Amino acid sequence: MNLEKPASMNAFWMPFTANRDFKENPRLLVSAEGMYYRDVDGNQVLDGTAGLWCVPCGHAQPKIVSAVREMVGQLDFAPTFQMGHPAAFDLAEKLMDYTNHRFGQVFYTNSGSEAVDTALKMALAYHKARGEGSRTRLIGRERGYHGVGFGGMSVGGIGGNRKNFGPLLGGVDHLPHTHNLEKNAFTRGEPEHGMNLADELERIVALHDASTIAAVIVEPVAGSTGVLIPPKGYLKRLRELCTKHGILLIFDEVITGFGRLTTPFACDYFDVEPDMMTTAKGLTNGVIPMGAVFSKQFIYDTFMSGPTGIELFHGYTYSGHPIACAAALATLEVFQEQKILAHAASMQSYWEDAVHSLKGLPHVIDIRSIGMIAGIELASIPGKPGARAFSAFKQAFADGILIRTTGDIIAMSPPLVIEKKHIDELFGKLRTVLKNLA
Ligand code: PMP
Repeated sequence: MNLEKPASMNAFWMPFTANRDFKENPRLLVSAEGMYYRDVDGNQVLDGTAGLWCVPCGHAQPKIVSAVREMVGQLDFAPTFQMGHPAAFDLAEKLMDYTNHRFGQVFYTNSGSEAVDTALKMALAYHKARGEGSRTRLIGRERGYHGVGFGGMSVGGIGGNRKNFGPLLGGVDHLPHTHNLEKNAFTRGEPEHGMNLADELERIVALHDASTIAAVIVEPVAGSTGVLIPPKGYLKRLRELCTKHGILLIFDEVITGFGRLTTPFACDYFDVEPDMMTTAKGLTNGVIPMGAVFSKQFIYDTFMSGPTGIELFHGYTYSGHPIACAAALATLEVFQEQKILAHAASMQSYWEDAVHSLKGLPHVIDIRSIGMIAGIELASIPGKPGARAFSAFKQAFADGILIRTTGDIIAMSPPLVIEKKHIDELFGKLRTVLKNLA
C-alpha cells in the first residue's frame, strides 16, 4: 500500500473537487484510527466530519474490520437477483429492529444517490401498481441535496449541481427552503420561525392537482447545503399534508441516519413517520459502499398483491453485496455494544456549547446545531462566494483538523465516539483559524 505522495496525480479526475487547486497543494490521507486521520507527511488530523458524514463508530473499528476480512475470505460476491445469501436477509431483519419496526422492508443499493433514485422509482411504480398511474410528479425542495443521479439531481435544489446537465427529469416541482437568517440566526435545535413554509405544498397541489403527485422528498436536516434545520412543526405539517393528499413522503436520511441526531434516525428525533426513507454512509460505518431504501409494509404489499413474478424491475449488481452486509451487521453490533447513541447524547450539550462559543468571532454570521451536527456560516467575500470558508478549511487541515465547507458554511459532524478532549482540540484549533481569517 502506497503511503507516499504519488508520482503523478494527473490521471485521477477527482469528484466534487477543484482538481487544479488540489493537485498543486494536495491533502493526502494514508491511514486512520479512532478519531484521527494521518496524512502523507505523518501529521495527525482530527476528524471533525466523520469522513464525509459516514464514520459514526470511529475509524478502523476493530469489529467491523474483522467482519469485512472474514466475509471477503468466505463469500467474495453473490448475486441477489433470483438468489441470495444469508447475511443480506439477516441484515434486513436487524435493520427492522434498529429502526423500531417503523418499516416493513429494506432494498439495498450502493450509495445514497442510488438509494434516492430507487425510492423515486418505487414511488412511481407503487402508484402505478395501485391503479393511480397519473401520479408521476415528484416534489423536492430548494437547497435540497439528493445525490447526483438524474432523479436525485432533479428533485435536488442546488443550482450549481443542476445547471450543466440538460433539462433533467420532467414533472418536478420544489418546495421553498426553510433557511431564514433574519429570523432564526444563532439557534440551538429547531428554529422558531418557518413552519408555515410546509403549507407551500398546498400551493403546488392546487397548481397541479394531487392526482398527479407521487411523492415529496426532503432531508429532515439538510446537511450538504449547510446544515439547514427544519423549523419547529414543519416536518409534522408536511406529513399531514402528504397524508391528506395521498402523496408519499420520503425522508432522505443519508446524512441524518445512524445516530447523527443522537437517535437511530431523524424520523425518531422529530417523531414523524415517512413512508420511505433512504440511507447510506453510516450504514457500514463508511467502510464499504452501501445504501438502502426502507419502505412501509403497505408499499411492499401493493407490489406483492399482483400476479407472481418479478415485482419491481430494478436493482444493482451489487445490491446486498456480502462484504457490505458483513460491515453493516458489524456496525449495528457496535452501535448496540458500545451504546453509540447514548454516548452521542451524553456529548451533545458539551459539543453544542463549544460550537456556539464561536459566536462573536470575525465573519461569523450564524451558528446552528442539532444533535451532533453543526453549521457555522461566514460572511461571504463580495464576488467570491465560498472563498472565505474554503481558506478556513485549508488552514484547518494544515493545523490538524478536518472540517467541511459548502459555500461559506462550515459543516461539522464528528464520529459519534468523540470525547470531550477531542471537542476541546477541535474547537481550540478552529477558533484560532477563524480569528486569523482574512
Ligand atoms: N442524499 C443526501 C441527503 C446526501 O447527503 C448525500 C451525500 N452527501 C446523498 C444523498 C448522496 O449520497 P452518495 O454520495 O453516497 O451517492
